[in-house]
Amino acid sequence: MTNDCVTRSPLSSVICHSSFPSMTSFASASDSRQQTARLVQLSDNARAYASDYDPNCGFIVGRDSVLAIDTRATPAMARQFIDAIRSVTPLPVRHVFLTHYHAVRVLGAAAFGPDVTVIASEGTHGWIRERGQADYESERGRFPRLFQGHEEIPGLTQPHMTFGDRLTLWLGDLEVQLLHVGRGHSRGDSVAWIPSQKVLFAGDLVENQCAVYAGDGYIREWSSTLERLEALAPEALLPGRGAPLQAPPAARATPSPPRAASSTRSGRPWPRRTSAGSAAAKPTKPRSRRCGRGTASGPCSST
Ligand SMILES: [Zn+2]
Repeated sequence: MTNDCVTRSPLSSVICHSSFPSMTSFASASDSRQQTARLVQLSDNARAYASDYDPNCGFIVGRDSVLAIDTRATPAMARQFIDAIRSVTPLPVRHVFLTHYHAVRVLGAAAFGPDVTVIASEGTHGWIRERGQADYESERGRFPRLFQGHEEIPGLTQPHMTFGDRLTLWLGDLEVQLLHVGRGHSRGDSVAWIPSQKVLFAGDLVENQCAVYAGDGYIREWSSTLERLEALAPEALLPGRGAPLQAPPAARATPSPPRAASSTRSGRPWPRRTSAGSAAAKPTKPRSRRCGRGTASGPCSST
C-alpha cells in the first residue's frame, strides 16, 4: 500500500494506515493470552461477537431464524459463539455465511449441525478446493490457541450454496445482501450487508487497529474493493479483527435503538462523513507495528 490511498476513504484509511508486517514474520505460535469475545449490538437485528484481535464473528436475527457470519476455528470454539447467540435469541441458526476462507474462521461450522446451510462466494469455494487443507495445516501451526479442540474438526467446511457477485437472503422481512464486490484480502472476499440498517460485516477486508494479512491478498485491487464498500455508506461495521466501528448517533440517517451496555463499552465511533462523501474524521490511526496488546508480527496479524 502506498500513501496515495490514505485520503481516499475512511475504509481505505483503516487498512492503508496499517503497517504491513513482514510476511515471513507472520506467526503467533507464542500467543497464549486468552481473549474473551463480547457481544456488541450493531442494530436492531445485528450483533458482533468481537474480541481484541481474534477473528470476529457476527450474526443477524431474523423473524424466524438466525444467520451466522463466520464460525471460528473449531466446533468447540464455535459452541462458545453459539452460546452467545443463545443469550440473544432462541431462534435456530439456519444459515452460516463465510466471508472468505481462512481455516481459523470457518472450520467451526460443523458445530451448527447438519441442517444449517453454509453459504460462500464462488471464489471462496474455489479456494477451499484448491488450498483448503494446506491452509488449515498452516494456520493450525501458527495459531494453536485458536484451534482448541481441533481433533473434533470433521474436515474442511464446504459450502452448500455459492454465489457469484450477489445473493439476497430474506430473514422474514429483513433483507440481507451477501456481496462479492471485489478481491483484496483473498480471492473470495465477500461481505454481509443490511441495507435498511446500514450494517456491514466486512470480514478481513477491513481490520480495526490490527495489522492486515496480505499473504493471500490482491494488493492492487484492495483499495478499489474498499471504495465499493465505502459507497454503501455503512453506519456500523464489523471488521475481521478489532472492535466494531459505529457512527456517532448524530451522523446516522435514522435514530438508533438503544444499545446494550456492552456495546457502549465495546463499540468504537465511526468517522463522521461530510455530504461530499469524504471523511471529516478518520478512524484512529493504527499504531505502527502494534495493535491492541499484540504486535504486528504476533497475535494481531490476521488471516
Ligand atoms: Zn482471513
